[in-house]
Amino acid sequence: MTLTRRSLLATSGAAILSTTLPRRGWTETRLSLSNGAEIVTLSDGNLTLPADFIFGPMPKDELATILAGFEMDPSAPLTPPCNITLLRQGDSLALFDAGSGSGFQSSVGALPDALAAAGIDPYDITHVIFTHGHPDHLWGALDDFDEPLFANATHMMGQVEFDYWMDDATVESIGAERASFAVGARRRLELLADDMVLFADGEAVLPGVTAQLTPGHTPGHMAFVIGEGADAVMVLGDAIGNGHIAFARPDWTSGSDQDPALAAATRAALFAQIMAADMTVIGFHLQGGGIGRVTRGDDGFTFQPAI
Ligand SMILES: [Zn+2]
Repeated sequence: MTLTRRSLLATSGAAILSTTLPRRGWTETRLSLSNGAEIVTLSDGNLTLPADFIFGPMPKDELATILAGFEMDPSAPLTPPCNITLLRQGDSLALFDAGSGSGFQSSVGALPDALAAAGIDPYDITHVIFTHGHPDHLWGALDDFDEPLFANATHMMGQVEFDYWMDDATVESIGAERASFAVGARRRLELLADDMVLFADGEAVLPGVTAQLTPGHTPGHMAFVIGEGADAVMVLGDAIGNGHIAFARPDWTSGSDQDPALAAATRAALFAQIMAADMTVIGFHLQGGGIGRVTRGDDGFTFQPAI
């Protein structure tokens, strides 16, 4: 294993320690904070999505021009990575989202292998903190026997998000394309509900880790700010859901967001906040392990992965 250390944050004491291990389809990226906390992203694999799932509502000509800069074909299937964030802080070992498990797509569900390769026993996870209830974030919380995979962990979800997926009306209102999401979320949340800790916008889910309501992708989507000042890192979940169009044209509505206009407004506010605070970000579907910096371009923004 080759480790390379580089300082990504010229104005802070934070240092990035990155490694990519190209075996078994998983990757691992690390970020060490000056307060001693350590963040690792682990790959759950890659989703496979039809291009229109994201690009459907977008202007085709300009879309093609922007995607060409990423060497992407606008009609080809999308294969976004899925990055699970692991925070080791004091006595806690917290996961942000749990991956897809074995019941969603065959190209995801690699988190247990990634944990094993990193020498982490699922029983050692103390908290599983969900950004939202979509399959690639929630379904991996249960094993193939419908038992919690992270059996000793406290599971946590935003109250608004939990209530949305537990509502009988959601499966009817969410649309045919996502009806299976609603059924799957409800079933899993019912199994986790007795031990689920619900939280609100602005609450600390762990010491120094603050939940931030970022609605639009789902009604109760939560991002999380870890640390503060120049050391701050934002776990974005799917609030900025890809490293190409969501950065280059954050104002464009995306087919992957349940309330596209609200999600675009949330993205605009997040970019303003990230730039003002000079934050490092971690995106669930961003490239290069998901940890990186944001730079401003002529029109929109660019994601600069740490690796
Ligand atoms: Zn999602």
